[in-house]
Amino acid sequence: MKALIVNCGSSSVKYTLFEMESEKKAAWGLIERVGLPEAFYKRRDINSEEKQEAVKVANHTEAVELIIRELLDKNRGIISDVSEIFVVGHRIVHGGDKFSKSVLVTDKVKEGLKECFSIAPLHTPAHYAGIVAVEKMLPGIPSVLVFDTAFHQTMPDYAYMYALPYEFYEKDRIRRYGFHGTSHNYVSQRAATLLCKPLSELKLITAHLGNGSSITAIENGKVIDTSMGFTPLQGVVMGTRCGDIDPAITTYLIEQYPQYKDAKTLNDLMNNKSGLAGVSGLSADMRDILKAVSEGDKKAELAFNMLVYSIKKYISAYYGVLNGADALIFTAGIGENSALVREAVCKNLSSLGIEINVEKNKERSSEERVISTDNSRVKVLVIPTNEELMIARESRKVIENDN
Ligand code: ADP
Repeated sequence: MKALIVNCGSSSVKYTLFEMESEKKAAWGLIERVGLPEAFYKRRDINSEEKQEAVKVANHTEAVELIIRELLDKNRGIISDVSEIFVVGHRIVHGGDKFSKSVLVTDKVKEGLKECFSIAPLHTPAHYAGIVAVEKMLPGIPSVLVFDTAFHQTMPDYAYMYALPYEFYEKDRIRRYGFHGTSHNYVSQRAATLLCKPLSELKLITAHLGNGSSITAIENGKVIDTSMGFTPLQGVVMGTRCGDIDPAITTYLIEQYPQYKDAKTLNDLMNNKSGLAGVSGLSADMRDILKAVSEGDKKAELAFNMLVYSIKKYISAYYGVLNGADALIFTAGIGENSALVREAVCKNLSSLGIEINVEKNKERSSEERVISTDNSRVKVLVIPTNEELMIARESRKVIENDN
């Protein structure tokens, strides 16, 4: 019984095939630079080494078709019969406030997804193309949509509303949505297992720190606030995103610089040229920043300090709104791998009951682990995220509930 997980990004298609009895990966890979001349296809399965080749794929439809053809290929593929796949799970970046949970794909659902095109124009059309391509290549096999925004739909209105005139919410659905929901959901469930307590009795702060980062406050398994907003631009300082800034800076830029009158250029500045990359002038990658800091680069040090400080502020605010916390969880590229970031974030938070064990924090491991001191009131955990597995589990749940 296999589940195929498809993740159509703005210019890539990633996939993972799970053997659902064991929840182990059977095959995985990606096609990057979809639509560009230098597109390439990287793939692996449990029987063979990683292969990489240049491919010609004009769009997401062709990329998904190629991936499925290869998985089913008599000589190179890992699936001998289509019927081995019982579900296809699609990662969907934005479900607006239309989708508050994972859903089985129907014509009506596809129409609903089309209505989300304007809210995530880079991603949703790519997701849609992927869904249609899967339907064509795997007729009769159910598809499920799992939304990055869905987990956050439990936020109360006073947390998700912006204090703009109400009509912009009514007309344009401008509100906080939050992202990385699948990851926050996964690590919160794992935290409950590790802490041997039901989610319904826990107050958690989850810190997904990757290229894009978000912090979430979770009470009794429900999100009550999250740092990303209407788009992933809001919140903490990220690799290339500025995170929270005074919104009037944008109107200032528009007034002062002719190029920023163009919304695309302004968006590009804040999403792709800011954050660690913009402040340091060096790199968006935390490893490069840490190296530069160790060599005495002052701008890299400032960028690092700004990122850490912005994370600390959200953790402290969420501790406040949760009125305490049982655990703080670090996940994603930086959260899982950077002991330095974790240590800096947790430094001087002992008044909140957050005390890290410096030695435990430094131990390198890819396992789930506790890094707080025995006396720390708030347990500090590192939990590697697994969004693909979460999508596979969600997809199975939807299929089982549907039958
Ligand atoms: P994405 O948001 O693209 O999924 P990831 O979750 O893979 O990103 O996180 C990427 C970030 O993780 C990069 O900034 C990278 O430098 C950082 N990272 C990965 N490994 C380490 C490490 N050992 N030490 C510090 N940072 C790391």
